[in-house]
Amino acid sequence: MTQAAIDPAQVTADVIIVGSGAAGGMAAYSLTKAGLRCLMLEAGRDYDPQAEVNMYAPESDAPLRGSGTPDKPFGYFDATVDGGWEVEGEPYTMQEGTQFYWYRPRMLGGRTNHWGRHVPRWGAYDFKPFSRDGLGVDWPIGYDDVAPFYDRVEKMIGVNGGRIELENHPDSPPGCLMPPPKPRITEMLIKATAESLGIPVRPAHTAVLTRDMPDDVAPRSACFNATPCTRGCTIGAMFQTTTSFLPMAKATGKLTVVTDAMVARVTMAGTGAGRGRAAGVEYVDRKTGRRHQVRARAVMLAAGTGETTRLLLNSGGEGQPRGLANSSGQLGRNLTDSTGASFSAYIPALADRPRYNEDGIGGQHIYIPFWLYEQQKRGELDFARGYHFEIGGRFGIPPAAALPRTWGAGLKQAVRSASGATIGLTLRGEMIPNKDTYCEIDPSVKDRFGIPVLRFAFKFSQHEINQVAHGRRTAHAVFKRMNGTILDRDLPPEEIMTAGGEIIHELGTARMGADARSSVVDSYGQSWDVDNLMLIDGSIFASGAHKNPTLTILALALRASERLAARFKSGAFA
Ligand SMILES: Cc1cc2nc3c(=O)[nH]c(=O)nc-3n(C[C@H](O)[C@H](O)[C@H](O)COP(=O)(O)OP(=O)(O)OC[C@H]3O[C@@H](n4cnc5c(N)ncnc54)[C@H](O)[C@@H]3O)c2cc1C
Ligand code: SF4
Repeated sequence: MTQAAIDPAQVTADVIIVGSGAAGGMAAYSLTKAGLRCLMLEAGRDYDPQAEVNMYAPESDAPLRGSGTPDKPFGYFDATVDGGWEVEGEPYTMQEGTQFYWYRPRMLGGRTNHWGRHVPRWGAYDFKPFSRDGLGVDWPIGYDDVAPFYDRVEKMIGVNGGRIELENHPDSPPGCLMPPPKPRITEMLIKATAESLGIPVRPAHTAVLTRDMPDDVAPRSACFNATPCTRGCTIGAMFQTTTSFLPMAKATGKLTVVTDAMVARVTMAGTGAGRGRAAGVEYVDRKTGRRHQVRARAVMLAAGTGETTRLLLNSGGEGQPRGLANSSGQLGRNLTDSTGASFSAYIPALADRPRYNEDGIGGQHIYIPFWLYEQQKRGELDFARGYHFEIGGRFGIPPAAALPRTWGAGLKQAVRSASGATIGLTLRGEMIPNKDTYCEIDPSVKDRFGIPVLRFAFKFSQHEINQVAHGRRTAHAVFKRMNGTILDRDLPPEEIMTAGGEIIHELGTARMGADARSSVVDSYGQSWDVDNLMLIDGSIFASGAHKNPTLTILALALRASERLAARFKSGAFA
């Protein structure tokens, strides 16, 4: 997909885009359509799912029958090549006594090649949390500012789903969503049970096509419900930038992509009319180790939360020991990840089911959105922010805890009987930014390119711990109503929560705000300090939500890109 033998220094670009994931892909698509010449620098290797993904191979063909390993945490066939929580030669460190795991894809398309594709809209409360409960900060924009971009992004990437009709879960206008798939048997049982307890269950919104999406350059087909999505999708049914935005942007003739280009810092114009503006970036060729400098009239950072901030912290020149674009001192602060915990039970009513195909689209078809906003507002809960449950339960090898201690033919029979009889509820919750959770440059560690690395500090507050405890009580109440045998160990909530970074929804560290004193960028991701520098990934979020972030990343990247294109048109960068 990348152009062979280009000399990036010779590319005349209006905009340099760093990163090719959700945010970078959207920017490339939007800016090239607006007629701007873009140079995209991607640290990872070139990747073409249509040529590389092995959709049909059974796990039994894979080493270790597809089990995860440190360099392939999601199994041998997983779409993330060259990346994960560990990347060779590219360490990060943690403050003593804290835990944070940083997931970094090193491939064209970033994490969009392999993600859950659950794409709920955020609601009005999610953009104004401080106004509601006095914690954290409000965003400088509200739901109404983002809603028109949600409408467009849902249509652009292809999202299936249905109406939610619940407080703080805005519904999409007609025409935005493709029809949702039917719930599976396990999901219908959960729905009936949860609703009998007053807990709502609704269609999930998922970035997987249930109708064909024709396009001259990047046609995409409806999901055929048969193959593991985490490997990538050669027919383009699930949204990944490598089968959508990137080929579409390249077809304009205005996008140059350079892979294996590890950007090390933003460079500044030293003298002349452009003084105080970004001149371009310096990157290291990961294959040769050589350093290159490239220039453009504007720079957009879409390297992902953490990487974008690391780049700025490493870009401080003379007189800027705190990095570039950091007059507020907020760079690195306000890091969050979603809370996470998994609950499961063996449900006798689902045992010995006849076999049939219930694969469906990858992941859940329905889910449990947060439903307790009123109680929270009245102060009846001991945690301030919400959570949702993602629903799991399919045919497959049941967990050992669901099986009797038996061997031979008895074990075979037990496995067959219990296959499809285990249900899982996976919690994803909102974390409130706190002063003990941040990233900074480690003063003594560099990666293999000589670039100083990030050091993380991470701590959940009592709000998140109480939230997970509440989630466990709720999940167990649902399981008990189904006469299920709970398979979870009885541990304190702190011990069942995933560590920071494990849910891979890291956000913040360069938050947006209403003024330069308290934030790094404005609501368009434009740096308050450097006029032609924009940040467009999750780093600019003023806070998280229990809802997964990527639809909002895409909507804000589209909003920012259109604003940048308008500024170009008005002559701001002439
Ligand atoms: C297993 C998994 C499941 C997930 N499930 C969901 C889900 O269901 N719903 C949801 O909303 N989100 C989900 N996410 C999170 C989602 O993938 C991310 O929020 C989203 O992809 C972030 O987009 P991005 O463009 O900011 O970053 P990325 O997709 O990470 O892209 C950043 C790109 O920048 C490149 N880069 C980094 N540093 C540099 C550098 N210095 N120079 C040049 N290039 C650089 C990286 O290689 C990468 O390609 C999931 C993620 C994973 C891994
Ligand atoms: S199940 Fe559907 S979306 Fe997933 S990989 Fe297969 S065709 Fe693609």
